[in-house]
Amino acid sequence: MAPVIGVTATLKEDTESVAERPLGRFVRTDLDYVEGVAQAGGFPVVLPPIGERRAAEAVIGGLDGLLLSGGSDLHPSHYGEEPIPELSVTIPERDSFEMALLEVALRRGIPIFGICRGMQVLNVGLGGTLYQDIPAQYGGDFLKHRQTTPKWQATHEIKVDAASQIGGIVEADEIKVNSYHHQAIRDLADGLVVSATSSDGIVEAVEYRDLSERWLLGVQWHAEAMRDAGAEHRSFFEAHVNAAERHALRRAAA
Ligand code: MN
Repeated sequence: MAPVIGVTATLKEDTESVAERPLGRFVRTDLDYVEGVAQAGGFPVVLPPIGERRAAEAVIGGLDGLLLSGGSDLHPSHYGEEPIPELSVTIPERDSFEMALLEVALRRGIPIFGICRGMQVLNVGLGGTLYQDIPAQYGGDFLKHRQTTPKWQATHEIKVDAASQIGGIVEADEIKVNSYHHQAIRDLADGLVVSATSSDGIVEAVEYRDLSERWLLGVQWHAEAMRDAGAEHRSFFEAHVNAAERHALRRAAA
């Protein structure tokens, strides 16, 4: 039985009204996340960012895995800071729902894969902090992490710790990735280890210190958009779906 993977979504304002449809707000997620899960053999379910704890408890009950997708900035109040002027759009409903979802998923031992914002949510949910804006706060030299070319094109390299779980997933110690972020991990949460960085020192991937204890991975680049660029990007979805399948089997046996 293929595992069911919840994929988080965003709320999107419609900026243009069309004849039969007035301006409104929509639940939306990039098809690449959903297809990434499906191609890896999972059943994707899109989770609308509505409600907090009770909604999170209710939806998690039907899931074997959780994919925290990319998107808007996480409000810095979630790591005890006031917003700086460079902070971009934040969506309170999404922040609250995903933080609740993460807490419930962690408690239940559900395998979690975070992409871009999703990796940052993982770090903050476990007690870490973020640079609200790399150019404003990182200091020193840094790469162009907000590329202006199509999302399937790699833009910078990352060094991968070959001994890490992620090193095993990508089977390389250096890979090329795309980059669409202006925020990054600042203080790493307890329990996480850095498994990849770019040449400027920005954290590009993290994992839980012991994946047999808790299956949890995060990548800063949009792996979902690079599935055709290389098997290393598809491998994350396969590893996540496999972990979710093992979790489902363990749960069925318990
Ligand atoms: Mn980057």
